[in-house]
Amino acid sequence: MLNANLKIFIAGHRGLAGSAIFRVLKAKGYSNILTRSSSELDLRDHNKTFDFFRQEKPEWVFLAAARVGGIYANSTYPADFILDNLKVQNNVIEASYKYEQGNCFSLVQAAFTLNLLRKPLKEESLLTSPLEPTNEPYAVAKIAGIKLCSAMNRQYGTNFISAMPTNLYGINDNYHKENAHVLPMLIRRFHEAKLAKAPEVIVWGTGNPKREFLCSDDLAEALLLLMEKFNASDVGEIINIGSGKENTISEIAFLIKEAVGYKGDVVFDPSKPDGTPRKLLDVSK
Ligand code: GDP
Repeated sequence: MLNANLKIFIAGHRGLAGSAIFRVLKAKGYSNILTRSSSELDLRDHNKTFDFFRQEKPEWVFLAAARVGGIYANSTYPADFILDNLKVQNNVIEASYKYEQGNCFSLVQAAFTLNLLRKPLKEESLLTSPLEPTNEPYAVAKIAGIKLCSAMNRQYGTNFISAMPTNLYGINDNYHKENAHVLPMLIRRFHEAKLAKAPEVIVWGTGNPKREFLCSDDLAEALLLLMEKFNASDVGEIINIGSGKENTISEIAFLIKEAVGYKGDVVFDPSKPDGTPRKLLDVSK
């Protein structure tokens, strides 16, 4: 463990990833954790973000604040997805360099996957093929963040590590009816259908795409290990964090149906987007 008094700022501590990082840091004995809700500090605002960093001077920063969402949210709010993410990461990353000791994790949800992924996605495949169109604005912003971190490391000797988690689930997930990712959205839909005794539940797409899932607390454990034992120079430009296992959306839907105890039918709606057929990360590193 590093010094228990290390001043750690978690940007986005109420979200799925950020709240897991908060829980795991606390459980490991880190006691000097700084947080701000988005109403207290809008990280899209350059001046407010820089004032905060100037005053607090955190020693480590976890950047888990981002505009994220499922396949529908990405296609409905493409401008918000690119602009908000660029603003937040530019502010937090630059302020981390200026006002603290240049230790920062930037989280990048696995998004920029290849259209036809035949093999698990290695870190080196970043920018080697076209981006998945359903979340291209998000991906473009996040790739800019990765490149910003590695440029800062090269030019200023900072210790900025970009981590790319696979699809996450866990405590504080977003259960929004339209914007959520597949797991929480289907949990909600099957649960509501059970309560309403609805005859069928619609699952988007063909059911054939495969996704890899990771519990958010496992992501937080991996980040803690990186923080305590490794530097950006050990990690390289980016590190994948996943479970190494994948399931089809159809398998996931029937698993949730079973767990919820819903007795009706499952109907796939191929008029809704499938997104990328596969998203498995190579987690050998
Ligand atoms: P992605 O992993 O970035 O594509 O984001 P999502 O978590 O939104 O979607 C994963 C997959 O689940 C896609 O193939 C969707 O078509 C499928 N899916 C099936 N039903 C749903 C649903 O109700 N909501 C969402 N978001 N995705 C669904």
